[in-house]
Amino acid sequence: MGKKIFIKTFGCQMNEYDSNRIYDSVKKIGFKKTDNKENADCFVLNTCHIRDKAKEKVYHEIGRVKKIYKKKIKPIIIVAGCVAQAENQEMLKREPYIDVVIGPQSYHKINNVIKKLEIKNQREETEFDTVSKFKYFDEIKNSSNKVSAFLTIQEGCDKFCHFCVVPYTRGPEYSRPYDKILSEAEVLIKNGAKEITLLGQNVNAYSYLENSKEYRISNLINELEKYSELERIRYTTSHPKDMTDDLIDCYGSNKKLMPFVHLPIQSGSNNILRKMNRKHTVEDYINIFNKIKKKNPEVEFSSDFIISYPGETDNDFDDTLLLIKKIKFINSYSFIFSPRPGTKAANLELLDKEISNERLMRVQKTLSDQQLKMNKSFEEKILEVLVENKMQNQSKLFGRNKYLNSVIFDGNENYIGKILNVKIEKTNRNSLFGKIHNNKDMRAA
Ligand code: SF4
Repeated sequence: MGKKIFIKTFGCQMNEYDSNRIYDSVKKIGFKKTDNKENADCFVLNTCHIRDKAKEKVYHEIGRVKKIYKKKIKPIIIVAGCVAQAENQEMLKREPYIDVVIGPQSYHKINNVIKKLEIKNQREETEFDTVSKFKYFDEIKNSSNKVSAFLTIQEGCDKFCHFCVVPYTRGPEYSRPYDKILSEAEVLIKNGAKEITLLGQNVNAYSYLENSKEYRISNLINELEKYSELERIRYTTSHPKDMTDDLIDCYGSNKKLMPFVHLPIQSGSNNILRKMNRKHTVEDYINIFNKIKKKNPEVEFSSDFIISYPGETDNDFDDTLLLIKKIKFINSYSFIFSPRPGTKAANLELLDKEISNERLMRVQKTLSDQQLKMNKSFEEKILEVLVENKMQNQSKLFGRNKYLNSVIFDGNENYIGKILNVKIEKTNRNSLFGKIHNNKDMRAA
């Protein structure tokens, strides 16, 4: 029997992509993936530093593993991801049950690290060696066989928003070689991907120079469009400053780029954007919105909002609410500001808790009402849905429409990977429910 590895992934799609690539790597040293926490030889906790209490969540998870293995041989415990990068030595000191902390730019070393652990000593690997990491993984086939696959094209960030840890945990902006990305996309498509989401902390800052030609994300999107088996292209997460005209043009010309833009703005007040060091204004954002809508009026926007950033006045907050209503954001995220150690905003004076909670409630209610209204507008309509999988323990299928809404309906597993017409009958805030409608290939399925 081979050794087993259990990876718990916290946070964003980039971590999901990384966890999958770690699996691909450890296969080479005899590990198999397990979903059973009770029989793993190695645990990897792939952490995220964006959300509040990230560090504590990791210690709680380790506490649970410790309990399970109290009377068994201790598994190898590896803490990976952005918390590992930010905390490194501190984690090893606070929790000796951890064997290794490994930052996101050192995953290419994970096999050696595990092998050396057989000689047992605690260690950390948190150098920024992005080039070596991607070179290493370029040689290992991506085994993802999902209908909707992730593909990291860029990592890191040079923007240094005052509230954010990413520039410290993922390092400077790095763009993978253009041809390597396309080769990996081909593998994903051969494995069954019908949708590819290009990933990066600043994905639209993608810029790769070869023979004095610059390749941008727009080049990748247009090249991917040519693969006939690929149906849909998405990308996330982007920054308004890098929303260049070549990318905006894709919304008018590229048939496979989905009409849904996740473009974080964080606040609707220029005063707060300045304090956050966002490097763009509300007017810049509205300008991008108008340009994209002109290319394709079907496009909808989602965003991220930080509520009660230090110094946010009632007027600043009202500006955020106004912007939310103006753009009619859907599928958006909102949080009360919480300081991250090591960032410029870490020691700023926090706003009153009650005021912050009240502001968050108002923002979330507005976003939720807009989402509900949009979902309601789908009732009785026929939508194109990419079927991703079967719902657990149910006879229902799960898929997504162009705007990433979850769509649930009856159907057989042979539809997985197909785009079906689904007539929407019922909706709620999170999902749309419907029935397959007049699909030509139903008999074939
Ligand atoms: S652009 Fe995004 S990733 Fe970079 S510092 Fe700002 S919030 Fe963080």
